[in-house]
Amino acid sequence: MDSTTAERRYRAFLAAAQLRFPWQFRTRGQSDDQEGVQVDVPPGWYGVLERLFHDVEAVMPAAEREGFRWRRLCARHAMLEVAFDGLRDPVSPRVVEARERAAVTCDVCGHPGARREVAGRYAVSCTRHFIQRLLQCHPEGESGARLWWGTPQPVLGGRSPAAYMEADPPTETLIEQALRLAMPPVPRLDAPNRERLQAAWPVLDEALGERLRSLRVAAFDPRSGRGGTLIAMLAGDADPSAQAAAVTRLARNGFSDLRLRLVGQSDLASPAAAADPWACMLALEASIDIPRATPDQSVLVR
Ligand SMILES: [Zn+2]
Repeated sequence: MDSTTAERRYRAFLAAAQLRFPWQFRTRGQSDDQEGVQVDVPPGWYGVLERLFHDVEAVMPAAEREGFRWRRLCARHAMLEVAFDGLRDPVSPRVVEARERAAVTCDVCGHPGARREVAGRYAVSCTRHFIQRLLQCHPEGESGARLWWGTPQPVLGGRSPAAYMEADPPTETLIEQALRLAMPPVPRLDAPNRERLQAAWPVLDEALGERLRSLRVAAFDPRSGRGGTLIAMLAGDADPSAQAAAVTRLARNGFSDLRLRLVGQSDLASPAAAADPWACMLALEASIDIPRATPDQSVLVR
């Protein structure tokens, strides 16, 4: 979809919603805090919002409509953010439902999807659009991606990815191939950087405990100023609840330039099916090990 078509579709969606549920979009008065409703969601989520408007109309008593209005309906880090004025009780549970629905709705096409990273950016994607996002990272750009898409490959049974995709649904093999293709180069570490990253070991030991098995770094190029991805490999499954505490500790210890990803060793067997396929493939194909620091023995080996 080109940008003009997307813009037209967005305007049509918004106009239809305002026409159908005018009371939800009313702006009252002219004071500073009465700006227009801020709406910024991808097309795949229009259906989620339409249902929310509908549900709110169904639960809101007529007498309370006067005090209600949406303030903000936006996608942020691939999550739906909603703010509104008015009666909380009947509306908040509907908002929670809408957020949950958005979290599993492809933001391009509206089909079932999952929130996944590609190169540091998150989006909720169905399998097809996840593969499309991965192809946008092809090292040889659009023409490289197009060539790959049409070329038969032994690992796909001699079919091209395009032909393979026709098999519905696309299988993990195809996702894995696309993931592999999109991986950044394996970083090289000079001695000062290696030493600096080794200092993350005790920080994460404390945050993650004995489940921490190894540390790897990917997409690390200090000259680019973009930081890198630190991958903590854990025994068993990755536990998302450990993430926040570990991120905080890293930031407090001067590692806020690194994105932390937790990967369970059990995920490595099939990255395409893992909760975080991008980090999983980084761990397998595009990262290097950060060894634990050993006591400096240079004074002894003279
Ligand atoms: Zn999709």
